[in-house]
Amino acid sequence: MQVLPTYDDVAAAAQRIEGHAHRTPVLRSRTADQELGAQLFFKAENLQRMGAFKFRGAFNALSRFDAAQREAGVVAFSSGNHAQAIALSARLLDIPATIVMPQDAPAAKVAATRGYGGKVVLYDRYTEDREAIGRRLAEEGGLTLIPPYDHPDVIAGQGTAAKELFDEVGPLDALFVCLGGGGLLSGCALAARALSPDCKIYGVEPEAGNDGQQSFRSGAIVHIDTPKTIADGAQTQHLGNYTFDIIRRNVDDVLTVSDAQLVDEMRFFASRMKIVVEPTGCLGFAAARAMRAQLQGKRIGVIISGGNVDMARFCSLLA
Ligand SMILES: *Cc1c(COP(=O)(O)O)cnc(C)c1O
Repeated sequence: MQVLPTYDDVAAAAQRIEGHAHRTPVLRSRTADQELGAQLFFKAENLQRMGAFKFRGAFNALSRFDAAQREAGVVAFSSGNHAQAIALSARLLDIPATIVMPQDAPAAKVAATRGYGGKVVLYDRYTEDREAIGRRLAEEGGLTLIPPYDHPDVIAGQGTAAKELFDEVGPLDALFVCLGGGGLLSGCALAARALSPDCKIYGVEPEAGNDGQQSFRSGAIVHIDTPKTIADGAQTQHLGNYTFDIIRRNVDDVLTVSDAQLVDEMRFFASRMKIVVEPTGCLGFAAARAMRAQLQGKRIGVIISGGNVDMARFCSLLA
C-alpha cells in the first residue's frame, strides 16, 4: 500500500519553498467576471520562477534530499517545464542535476535547461527508452530520480499553488485545474479539501488526451497514445498511482476542452489581461467559460499553470 500525501504535507511544502518560490499574484478581470457572470480569481503561475508551477514541486522534492542524495545529485527525464524546474531548483540548492531530453527537443528548451546549470543527456526517442536511461544513470551514479508528477513530495509542492490561493481569497465555490499526469490537480485537491471543503474541484484536459477523464469515470488508470494537441504540458499518456488515488477520492469531475478553445483563451489572456499563457495553462479557464451557465454568481478559482511558449509559436497560434 502506498502512503498518500495529505494536506499536512502541502503545508510543510509551503514552508520549505517560502522565500525561494514566488508567491504569485491572484489576478482579477472585470471582463472575465462580466462574460461569465461570476467572480473569477486567477492564480498566475505563469509568473512563477521558470514560468510554471513545476518549480514548487521540484524545489520541495529536492529540499528533502539527505546529504548523500545531495552529493550524488538528481536525475529527471523531461523536455518541458519539469526539466527546467529540476535544473533551477538543483542549482539553488547546490545539487548536481542531470536531465534526460529527446535529441529533437526544441533547442530553446535544451538551452534553457543548460542555462540553469543542468547537465543534459540527449537520447533518440524513437529507438531508446528514456525511463531505462534514467534508471541506468540513477543506478550507476547513485542519482535520485524525481518524476514529473507521481511522487508525494512533488504532489505536495504543487498543492501550495492552491493553498496560497485559498489563503488569499478565502473559500471558493469551484476550482478549475489543468490536468496532465495529475501532480498539480492532486496537490491542489488536497489543499482545497482542507481549506474550502465545499469547493467543487475540476480537472481539465485537452479533448484529444482525455485519459484522465476515462480513468476517473471508469475507476482504473487508462493508458493512451501520446495525444495530438497544442497543450504540450498535458500530453501525458496516463495518470500516476498516487495522483489517480488522490484524484479519485477528492475531485468532482474531469472535463475536456478543444485546442480551438485554448487558443481563444490565450487571446483573451493576452489582449484583456496582458499576460502570456501557454496553451496548457488555458485549460482551466476554457472549461470554466464552457460551464458558465452553472457558475452564475459563484466564486471561481482558476489555476493558470504556466507561460512558457516560444514567441513565434504564440504568434502563429493567435494568427
Ligand atoms: C506539467 C504541466 C501541466 C500538467 O501538470 P501535471 O502535474 O502533470 O498534471 C499543466 N500545465 C503546465 C504549464 C505544465 O508544465
